[in-house]
Amino acid sequence: MKDVYTIADLRDWPHATADCTPPLRLAVIGDPVAHSASPPMHNAALAALGLPARYTRLHIRPEELAEALALLPGAGFIGINCTIPHKGPVLPAVHSRDLSAELAGGVNTVVVQPDGQLRGYSTDGAGLSRAVREAFGVELATQRVLILGAGGGAGRAVAIQCASEKCARLVLMNRTLPKLSELVEKVETLYPRERLTVAAMENSALKAQLALTDLVIHCTSLGMKADDLSPISADLLEARHCLYDTIYVGTRTPLQRAADSVGARSANGLTMLLHQGAISFEHWFQQPAPIEVMRAALLAHLSEK
Ligand code: NAP
Repeated sequence: MKDVYTIADLRDWPHATADCTPPLRLAVIGDPVAHSASPPMHNAALAALGLPARYTRLHIRPEELAEALALLPGAGFIGINCTIPHKGPVLPAVHSRDLSAELAGGVNTVVVQPDGQLRGYSTDGAGLSRAVREAFGVELATQRVLILGAGGGAGRAVAIQCASEKCARLVLMNRTLPKLSELVEKVETLYPRERLTVAAMENSALKAQLALTDLVIHCTSLGMKADDLSPISADLLEARHCLYDTIYVGTRTPLQRAADSVGARSANGLTMLLHQGAISFEHWFQQPAPIEVMRAALLAHLSEK
């Protein structure tokens, strides 16, 4: 069994995967895709439930996407996950889409239906919502939320989820303010304008907004490199703040270390990754995902990195 398969393999799937038992019937497609943590997480779940399928990585380039999607039913796929750069392009390419995908403007989960039609879902926002509940024991609806990095892919999905769940107050911040304009238009269709604030990510705005914030959701890439500083300096934080950092590399992110220094509660993005995967699994198999098995596999995989 290979670590990563390609479109050439997908064209002749039974032959390319003849050595695989159980058969490969789920995959994450991306470009690049070799880094994805989804296979160990889903394979642990499949094995724990005794389901006759395995999950792999498919390296699909943008120009190969339409062909890859068309090949899935014939190759016996149950479904796929989509990662960079395919989430957006898959949205118009599937036969039908769930509201979650329409709202997010992208698809991270595809289900191959019994008639061979492809249905798209987005589980990122709902995954974040479950992760916040797990980390802090709160519902988004009760929270005054500040999203840092709302203009990126993860930030947009988080913002749409917070707006859909009608959080108590919503602040969207991004380094590059114009990148928020399209998102703001969409949020305004879901959320009362008077509870929404949009601002550039700089210290004076942060200070003013943090005074009116319960939950910070950090969605920039600051903290992925070992020498990155915290996106919020510790002197702006209070012990009552909850900080959810979507970054899942390393043990304690720079934002979490800043939170620790003022006694604030924090969590990293592993739980978002876990819960979005669990919701994908539920779409594919119509049964609860074995969450603790998946968590253990994810932790083991990430600790090897
Ligand atoms: P993306 O689309 O490239 O967006 C990057 C975001 O980071 C943008 O808002 C960008 O602001 C901001 N940014 C980058 N460098 C910055 C800097 N020096 N100062 C301030 N802001 C900066 O990336 P993405 O896919 O959304 O990923 C963003 C983060 O989310 C990553 O850390 C990733 O690990 C995490 N994530 C986690 C999960 C999970 O399941 N836990 C899932 C997806 C992503 P500009 O718009 O100004 O460039």
